[in-house]
Amino acid sequence: MAITLPGKVFFVGAGPGDPGLLTVKAAKILQSADVVVADRLVGEDIIAEYVNASTQVIAVGKQGGSGASKPQEEINKMLVKLAKRHASVVRLKGGDVTIFSNILDELAALVAANIPYELVPGITAVSGAAAYAGIPLTARNHSTGVRILTYYQTAAISNEAWQELAKFEDTLVFYMSGSTLHSIVSKLLQAGAEPTMPFAVVEQATTPHQHVHLFTLEEFILRQRDAQFTSPSLVIMGRVAGLYPQFSWLPNSGDRSAYFTPLQGQGQRLLAGQKL
Ligand code: SAH
Repeated sequence: MAITLPGKVFFVGAGPGDPGLLTVKAAKILQSADVVVADRLVGEDIIAEYVNASTQVIAVGKQGGSGASKPQEEINKMLVKLAKRHASVVRLKGGDVTIFSNILDELAALVAANIPYELVPGITAVSGAAAYAGIPLTARNHSTGVRILTYYQTAAISNEAWQELAKFEDTLVFYMSGSTLHSIVSKLLQAGAEPTMPFAVVEQATTPHQHVHLFTLEEFILRQRDAQFTSPSLVIMGRVAGLYPQFSWLPNSGDRSAYFTPLQGQGQRLLAGQKL
């Protein structure tokens, strides 16, 4: 069969970790991919289960500014180059493709090069974490909505915005904020948050290493300010976090080692058992 080039780039959400949390559509697209460009937060189990052994997998993981990772500009160029050679290129991202995923730069590069693409949603980390921790995110009488936030770049939230967030009418979810948690809690308390407001930190949600920690704002500042969390971790703050002890159904894992391990090499097929 003649292949028309350039091919198409499929941005596919791999979900938060559990290989059972990919969509059927994602699984089908992965099975017929010619090449897969995967993020760090895509576990090797997903590659082993859904990607054919003959398909090239390129790991371009980023790890919170440290370690080996491809600069964004190189990833953009790589996608364009691959689409000129292959019919089906999958850009596989952890969680959902539209939430904290750098997709904007990659889309812009494809548009500029006239490469066709599709976006395939995935289960974002907070949906996975909330479900596997038994926390109903918008429980009636507990919260009026959910805010998806990050405090990775510390200037990103203004003082007025903190005042608003500190009312806790909405559930606050912080991505990429494990190392700034202390500042988040301080900002909220300074902005008038109730000191007894509960929050959960969900480490490695939906993986066999999932571990949930429950705190109140004041307890964290007084006794846990130096707590370290295994990456990736997600923060769910607000009254709904107080429902965790009552409705959790998955015991904490005793294993707090990293489930998602940094990539070892690039441009190579990952063999079964090899780390991504
Ligand atoms: N596109 C992804 C988010 C990528 S940003 C999504 O939709 O989920 C990376 C951040 O996502 C991490 O720092 C962490 O806060 C969160 N995250 C991703 N996977 C996670 C997991 N399995 N458990 C807890 N947090 C996770």
